[in-house]
Amino acid sequence: GRKFFVGGNWKCNGTIDEVKKIVSTLNEAEVPSQDVVEVVVSPPFVFLPLAKSSLKPDYQVAAQNCWVKKGGAYTGEISAEMLVNLGVPWVILGHSERRALLNESNEFVGEKVAYALSLGLKVIACIGETLEQRESGSTIAVVSEQTKAIADKVSNWDNVVLAYEPVWAIGTGKVATPAQAQEVHAELRKWLEQNVGAEVAATTRIIYGGSVNGGNCKELAGQPDIDGFLVGGASLKPEFIDIIKSAT
Ligand code: 13P
Repeated sequence: GRKFFVGGNWKCNGTIDEVKKIVSTLNEAEVPSQDVVEVVVSPPFVFLPLAKSSLKPDYQVAAQNCWVKKGGAYTGEISAEMLVNLGVPWVILGHSERRALLNESNEFVGEKVAYALSLGLKVIACIGETLEQRESGSTIAVVSEQTKAIADKVSNWDNVVLAYEPVWAIGTGKVATPAQAQEVHAELRKWLEQNVGAEVAATTRIIYGGSVNGGNCKELAGQPDIDGFLVGGASLKPEFIDIIKSAT
């Protein structure tokens, strides 16, 4: 079986005091065991050491990005090597905010994923269509193309979690319906089966992101091809615990 996965993407939010507060909430919560759910929180880079050192071992941390290749003269960037050096096990790559605001292309994201994996990092690779793309009926074509750009550069999928995050659902309060999300997840799994292999398709976790909250998580989690969530806004709030609990 695919172990349920809940990621909390804090995006560009937080102060030292707020990080401490979220950490206490998480540490005090009774959550299902690590055999049942994998929980990975992703603070901004500067708070990674604080979060990592203060969270109880039930939780792991992820960076929200890293540089595409070996570090060097790339002012302002953080390399995958640095994350490894810090003991950060996970990195989120290809988030739609970076694709849209920082022009990260499918190919660039594919390259990043492959480079991070080559250093032993685990990757939450994000894909998803815009509202315009959905309305024009190209959702499956768009997410397949985004997945292909990753598959073109990645040979071992063991350390990849695929996050389907429809752009129109991110931060909008407009969550995909369980049926809408399930349809895309099933298509993605079929794409993996046909283009990568049956084993990879059966074992790769495909998680949903976009306006997930304590109220809508349970029904989404019940869909056969939804293996967890990547949570934005609600990951900064106590209801993140309810989302973690939707694993059971
Ligand atoms: P929201 O949960 O705030 O919609 O954000 C989703 C997201 O982008 C997670 O990466």
